[in-house]
Amino acid sequence: MSGTYSQPSVFFFGQGRADGTATMKDTLGGKGAGLAEMTNLGIPVPPGFTIASAICITYLETHQFPPWLRAQVETSLQRLEAVTSRHFGGKESPLLVSVRSGAAVSMPGMMETILNLGLNDNTVEGLAEESGNPQFAWDSYRRFVQMYSAVVLDLPKAEFERMLEARKQKSKVTRDSDLSAADLKALVKEYKAHAEKATGGKPFPDDPMEQLWGAIAAVFESWHTRRAIDYRKLHDIPDSMGTAVNVVTMVFGNIGEDSGTGVAFTRDPSTGERKLYGEFLMNAQGEDVVSGTRNVEPIAQLKEQMPAAYAELDRLARVLERHFRDVQDLEFTIERGKLYMLQTRRAQRSGPAAVRISCEMVDEGAISEEEAVARIPPEDLDQLLHPMIDPDSHVDLLTTGLPASPGAASGTVIFDADIAERLARKGEAVILVRRETSPEDFHGMIVCKGILTARGGMTSHAAVVARGLGKPCVASAQDLEVDEQHQTLSVGGRVVKQGEWITIDGGSGRVFVGQAKLMTAELSGNFTRLMQWSDKVRQIRVRVNADTPADAHRGRDFGAEGIGLCRTEHMFFEGDRLLAMREMILAQDTDGRKKALAKLLPMQRGDFEAIFRAMEGFPVCIRLLDPPLHEFLPKEPREIEEMARALGKPVEEVERIVHSLAEANPMLGLRGCRLGIIYPEITAMQARAIFEAACTVAARKGRVMPEVMIPLVANVIEFRKQALIVRQVAEEVFRERQITVPYLLGTMIELPRAALTADEIAREAQFFSFGTNDLTQTTWGLSRDDAGRFLPYYLEHGIIEDDPFQVLDTNGVGKLIEMACQLGRRTRQDLKLGICGEHGGEAKSVAFCDALGMNYVSCSPFRVPIARLAAAQSTLMQRGTMDRTRATV
Ligand code: PEP
Ligand code: MG
Repeated sequence: MSGTYSQPSVFFFGQGRADGTATMKDTLGGKGAGLAEMTNLGIPVPPGFTIASAICITYLETHQFPPWLRAQVETSLQRLEAVTSRHFGGKESPLLVSVRSGAAVSMPGMMETILNLGLNDNTVEGLAEESGNPQFAWDSYRRFVQMYSAVVLDLPKAEFERMLEARKQKSKVTRDSDLSAADLKALVKEYKAHAEKATGGKPFPDDPMEQLWGAIAAVFESWHTRRAIDYRKLHDIPDSMGTAVNVVTMVFGNIGEDSGTGVAFTRDPSTGERKLYGEFLMNAQGEDVVSGTRNVEPIAQLKEQMPAAYAELDRLARVLERHFRDVQDLEFTIERGKLYMLQTRRAQRSGPAAVRISCEMVDEGAISEEEAVARIPPEDLDQLLHPMIDPDSHVDLLTTGLPASPGAASGTVIFDADIAERLARKGEAVILVRRETSPEDFHGMIVCKGILTARGGMTSHAAVVARGLGKPCVASAQDLEVDEQHQTLSVGGRVVKQGEWITIDGGSGRVFVGQAKLMTAELSGNFTRLMQWSDKVRQIRVRVNADTPADAHRGRDFGAEGIGLCRTEHMFFEGDRLLAMREMILAQDTDGRKKALAKLLPMQRGDFEAIFRAMEGFPVCIRLLDPPLHEFLPKEPREIEEMARALGKPVEEVERIVHSLAEANPMLGLRGCRLGIIYPEITAMQARAIFEAACTVAARKGRVMPEVMIPLVANVIEFRKQALIVRQVAEEVFRERQITVPYLLGTMIELPRAALTADEIAREAQFFSFGTNDLTQTTWGLSRDDAGRFLPYYLEHGIIEDDPFQVLDTNGVGKLIEMACQLGRRTRQDLKLGICGEHGGEAKSVAFCDALGMNYVSCSPFRVPIARLAAAQSTLMQRGTMDRTRATV
C-alpha cells in the first residue's frame, strides 16, 4: 500500500500486482476493484492507483483532503513513474493520466471523467515528439483543456464547441480530426485564454500536480450533481457510499489507424446469446464512443480490421467471464495494435437475457442452480411475461403516469366501454381511456388492449382489474384531461381524439402518441427451469389472486399453489349478473333480496366449481362480498334510467335508493363483513354457493379445499356472527348432499384494530390473510384511490421512500403485521398466515412475509413467477448464501 500512514487510502495497481482485489468494491469502487483484479490476473491494464471512496465523503463534508492523502498520492505517482518509465510533468516521455470516478455500485455516465491530464505547453511537445504525431498531441491537449474547463472549472461546454466550430470553418474542414497541429495549437491558446477570462483572471493550471488535485476534487464533487443524486434515488443507492477516484496511465486509441477504443459485452445483453457483442471506433478516444459524434462499428468489424487485437479481446473476454462467473461489460483501448483493458464490470442485461445467460451458465458448469436463482432481479421477469415496446421503435412521449399493470399495448383511443366492446369484437385494437374506471366499465376492460386513466392509484379499480386480467394499465397519468363529452384527451394542450392511436407501457407508466412496434416475449424452457430451481429452494408458498376460472387457470400455468384471494364481487360485474346484483341492492326487504340472490346463486356456484377444478385440490380462499354496494350502481342519470327500465322499476324510486346508498367515506362505510351482518342473506347465499360447488366437485372424486374468508373484520364478534352463518350453511349443504368437505374459516386482517386484537380473533379464525391494501390505507389514513394526487410529490421530495401501496411499509404497517402474526399464533399455534394485498407479488414484501414465517403470499397471475423467484431469493438470503446486492445491483 502506498504511503506510510496507518490509514491506507490509495491503492496501487501495475506490473501484474495490485494492492486491491475484486472483493474490495466498497473501498475501491467497482471500477477500481475491477482494475485491481484484472492486474492480479495478469491482464494488460495500464498501471495506476485508486483513491478510496471514503475520502469522497470526508472531502464533501470538509471541503478539504485529509492531511495524509497528499503524501500517499505523491508516493503512488512516483511508483507510477517508475513502472511506466515516464515523468509526470516531464517533457521527455511525459506521464499522462486519466482521472475517473467509480462507486461501489455502477452509475453509468452519472459522474465525471478527465482524460489526458498532465498536458501543458511543455509536455505536449514531448508527446508530439514521442508519438511522431504532433496533430495527435495537440488534439489530446485540446481535448484535455476542454474537458478540464467543463468538469473542474465548471465552464459551459457550448463556448468551447463554438470556438471549435469557428476554427473548423476558418480552416475549411468539416471533421475535428482534420484540424492541423497548427490549428489545434491556436485553438488550445484560445481555449486557455477563454478559461482565464471566464474564471476571473485565473490562468489555466499548467502544473500537472495542480491539475491532478483539481480533477480529484471535481470527481468527488460530481457525487453531488443533480443527475447523480436522482440516479441514486431511483436505484436505492445510499448517498453515504461516495465514489472512488481512479488515476490511470493514459493509453491512446487515437494515436493512428492501428489504434481504437470500444466497449464489449461477453454475451449479447439484450438476447443473452453467447457471443462477443459490442462496438468500437478506430483512431478514437473513449469520449468519442460515448458522445455519439462519430458512428461506431460493430465489434465483428474489428475482426476484419485488426484480427490479432480481436482474438486477444475475445480471449480476455472469456477469461474475465470465467473468472467473475458472470457476464461482463468491458471497456478497451488498442494502442498501436496492443490491447489494454480499462474496465470490467457485471453487465446490465434485459430480463430475457438475464434468464438465458444464467441458465446457460448453469449448463456450462460455471454457476450453480442456486446462483442462477440468486442472480435475476425478480422484477426483470416482467419483461418475459408481457409484450414490450421494441427498443428500435420511434416513439413520441405524451405523458407519464403510474405503472399500474405491466406490458405494452397500442390501440385507438376509446372513451366508452360499450364502444370499446363493439370495436374490439370486430377485431380492432382499442385502449380504453377513462377519468377513472368503475365496475360498469368491466366489459370494456376485458376486451381492450390496455387501460389509461387520469385518476386513481396503484390499487384503484382500473389497476387491480387490469392486473387481474393481465392487461397493461397506466393510471393517474400526469396532466391528462379526459373530455368524455367531446371525446378527446389532452395533455398540456396536446389533443388526441377518439379513434387516434396511442401506445401505453404499463411497466414504466409511459404513454405515447401513435402506434409503437411491440415485441411479444415467449416463455422458453429456460424460464421454466429457473422457476423449477426457485421452487426447490423456497419455503413460502405462492398463491394467485384469481376471481374467475380463466384467472385460476392462468395462475396454475404460472405455478400458483392455490388461490389466496377470490374477490367474489368481481363475479357480479358482467351482464345478467350485474342486473341481478342491482336487483338485490335495490330490493327494499329481505324477501326481495333473497329473490335476487337466488338468481345469483347458480352463477356463483358455477364459477366456484370451475375454479375448484382449475385448482386441482390446492386451497381456494374465497372472500365474501366486500365493496360498498354503490360500486355496483350507475352514476349518470342516463344509466340510472336504463337500469330502472331493465328492472321494471320507476325511475324516481331507483334514483332515491341510489342516492340513499351514497356515503361520504364509502371505503370506511357499509362494506366488508358489515354488509353480511346487516344483510345476513348475502353471506348465506355465498356460503351456499361455495359449499354446493365444493360438494359437487368432491362427489365426482375431485379434490377440493375451500377457505372461506370474512373481510374487514375489526372486532371478534363481527367474525363470530358471520362464522356462525357460514358454519350453519355448511352443515345444511353437507346434510343435503350427504357428503362432507373439509374447509377452513378465517379472516382478512386489513384494519389496525384487527391486528391489535389478533389474539382474540385467532380464537375463532383458522387463518389470517393480510389485506395490505386496506391495511396500508387505514394505517396511513390515506385513501387508496386519491393518494395519486399527492404521493408523487411525497416521493419526489423524499417525504417517503416508496409508495406504500407498492412496497410494503415494513416500518409502520409491517409492525402491525408482525404483531398480528405473533398474537395470532400465540392463541392458535397452527394459524395459517398469508398475504393477499398487492404487496404479495413485490420482491421486498415477499421477503418480509417469508421472514415472519407466513405460509404463503398471493398475488395477481402475472406476478406469480416474480413471487416464486423472490421467495427463493428470500430463502437464500436467510441462509446467507446470497449476496444481498446480487440481484438488485
Ligand atoms: C386488501 O385490502 O389488501 C385486499 C386484498 O382487498 P381489496 O384490495 O379487495 O380491498
Ligand atoms: Mg381489502
